[in-house]
Amino acid sequence: MDKQPLDTSPLYQTYQRAPLAFERGEGVWVETRDGRRFMDLSGGVAVNVLGHAHPHLVAALKDQAEKLWHTSNLFEIPGQRRLAERLTANTFADKAFFTNSGAEALECAIKTARRYHYVSGQPERYRILTFEGAFHGRTLATIAAGGQAKYLEGFGPKVEGFDQLVFGDEAALRQAAAGADVAAILIEPIQGEGGIRTVPTPFLQLIRELCDTYGLLLIYDEVQTGIGRTGRFYAYENSGVVPDILASAKGLGGGFPVGVCLATQEAAKGMTPGSHGTTYGGNPLAMAVGNAVLDVVLEEGFLEEVRRKALLFKQSLASLADRYPDVVEAIRGEGLLIGLKMRVPNTEMVAALREEAVLAAPAGDNVVRLLPPLNVTEEEIRTAMERIENAAARLSPALQRASA
Ligand SMILES: *Cc1c(COP(=O)(O)O)cnc(C)c1O
Repeated sequence: MDKQPLDTSPLYQTYQRAPLAFERGEGVWVETRDGRRFMDLSGGVAVNVLGHAHPHLVAALKDQAEKLWHTSNLFEIPGQRRLAERLTANTFADKAFFTNSGAEALECAIKTARRYHYVSGQPERYRILTFEGAFHGRTLATIAAGGQAKYLEGFGPKVEGFDQLVFGDEAALRQAAAGADVAAILIEPIQGEGGIRTVPTPFLQLIRELCDTYGLLLIYDEVQTGIGRTGRFYAYENSGVVPDILASAKGLGGGFPVGVCLATQEAAKGMTPGSHGTTYGGNPLAMAVGNAVLDVVLEEGFLEEVRRKALLFKQSLASLADRYPDVVEAIRGEGLLIGLKMRVPNTEMVAALREEAVLAAPAGDNVVRLLPPLNVTEEEIRTAMERIENAAARLSPALQRASA
């Protein structure tokens, strides 16, 4: 068959990409092929927790690359065991299953919850309660879990078994949780793509209470919030409301694709030999980098520093919001997961920031996300603030009127 002429690119046209291609990076800085330097506060969308080309991560990857890349999960992978030991020692979890992405970690979490009830003699319990504004990935099950029409449209019947609740609606939650066919409640402790919306602790406490009452499993999606992003290893530590299952990815590899599903031994009891698998998940390269990320993030005092710098950044941003109330409405988020709720369209702010050589990521609810590396310096935060201020000034209708 003759090929049709291409439009402009051999790639799927699923992204409207910014016309920028980067060649190298160091810490918070990235450089284009033609030598333009940008401050990267988009962080590869919450992935580059230690910035670009962190020497310890580069060394770990190079070292592993010269030894062994891949063996499959038919054999022991010592790096997996080590990373699992460290992840479980530092969380609620007892068990880990490694994946290549966040969506796959969620798939594992959903399967774990359903199997738990299956082996507990209640196979009718398979429904998962989720929340409006959620984002859980782009596989067929995770778009059903997220429930957003724009991601479901045109992809055939929505995968069965996901019920979406209104964010914060207690009565609806109480009623849904009592359903005899419910397996689990799935929630992001802070909605990332949804606009850096923090779930109030009392609402999380109610969810935990209902899970305990009805024998449901609580699943956290910490793909975006995990690995120190909020100033704690995992964001659930901020509320103290502990899940049974947790999906993590993004920051875990600091830029190398890796995810993990964490669970208590009890919650994971249905995941028996042969019930689940992956070709690449947890391969030696990914494990070498994941362990290297943890070397840094779990180092004594590291997360304390993240919290200190985050406070500084947020205070500066709050003062900016006070000075440009016609541009920035509010500052949201926890730690270095920062959202600027905008009064002007968030896309305009992202563009204005790019003019100031700052990269930021848009999110839902008209929010601009700032996701600096966790090892960003105070001086870099000051530089970022100057540039953000310039961008805000560009967009300020009051200033534009004054200069007209
Ligand atoms: C990014 C993200 C995902 C999906 O992760 P992928 O690696 O893109 O599959 C799922 N949940 C949340 C909260 C995310 O931020």
